[in-house]
Amino acid sequence: MIIKIGIPRALLYYRYKHLWESFFNELKIDYIVSPDTNRDIVRKGIAYAIDESCLSSKIYLGHVEWLIDQCDYILVPRISGYGSDGTVCSKFQAIYDVVANTFRDRNVNLLSYNIDPRVADFEMVSFLKMGKILGKRKSQCLYAYLKAKQVQNNAQLLEINEQERLLNINKLKILLIAHRYNISDKYIGEPILNLLREQGAVPIIGDIAPKRETLAKSSELTETLPWTINKELVGSIPIFKDRVDGIILISTFPCGPDSLVSEIIIRRVTDKPILNLMIDAQEGNIGIETRLESFLDIIRFKKDEFYGKD
Ligand code: SF4
Repeated sequence: MIIKIGIPRALLYYRYKHLWESFFNELKIDYIVSPDTNRDIVRKGIAYAIDESCLSSKIYLGHVEWLIDQCDYILVPRISGYGSDGTVCSKFQAIYDVVANTFRDRNVNLLSYNIDPRVADFEMVSFLKMGKILGKRKSQCLYAYLKAKQVQNNAQLLEINEQERLLNINKLKILLIAHRYNISDKYIGEPILNLLREQGAVPIIGDIAPKRETLAKSSELTETLPWTINKELVGSIPIFKDRVDGIILISTFPCGPDSLVSEIIIRRVTDKPILNLMIDAQEGNIGIETRLESFLDIIRFKKDEFYGKD
């Protein structure tokens, strides 16, 4: 029987897409990724989610809904934490159960793998278990995992090199501190990236930085953050700060971790202009254009004042 896996284009997809897609490619397993987020996906996600959920996890449910009836399994990993590197937001810890319960009447088969170093659920072992569920031999799965890991590492290196090139461009550069699933999402982050580019600025993505370095550097701003991904984002600030002209913080309403982290950044990074943007389900990006334009105008004005106009 030919199996098709569905992959929601949301949340951890943006962190692991190369790993997941290469793993399935190597195992010759067919997969489908849900489309870019659109209004219909957002609308359905909102309808399925509880009000208290953040917009990012509402969008995730919209993507899961899109995949139902399109595939045999939907990939929903269960990630509890990354050991000494920190834990993850409770939305990630709960997402498998949330999806299973939300769509319990729709006959959905969920494919999962667990990451929880506290009980020795490490990534490689979990991928071997996932491959076994899909009927593949252990040696095939091990080869596929190692190959996929290499593809992911190479892709990250390419991104880092490309960002290094952008950092050397002689234009206004703005560091974006946002989860990758927000910044890369068509509905949340892409309009902001496009607006910045239209305004002649170069977006620099905080998430595109060597992860080990960001984790180490995060303690320069705070030593008490529990969440790995937030630590990586915070740690990217000392790496890029002196090479950019301003910082934009982007989060989705009502994200607990990001609210705390944004407050810490605003209080402790005092030598760069900072714009704090929160995107919610009702308003989306409405009003953002004006705020972005004013922010860039202020930065340009300050630069002219400091260096003098040509
Ligand atoms: S970190 Fe924030 S945006 Fe991400 S899943 Fe958790 S609550 Fe949502």
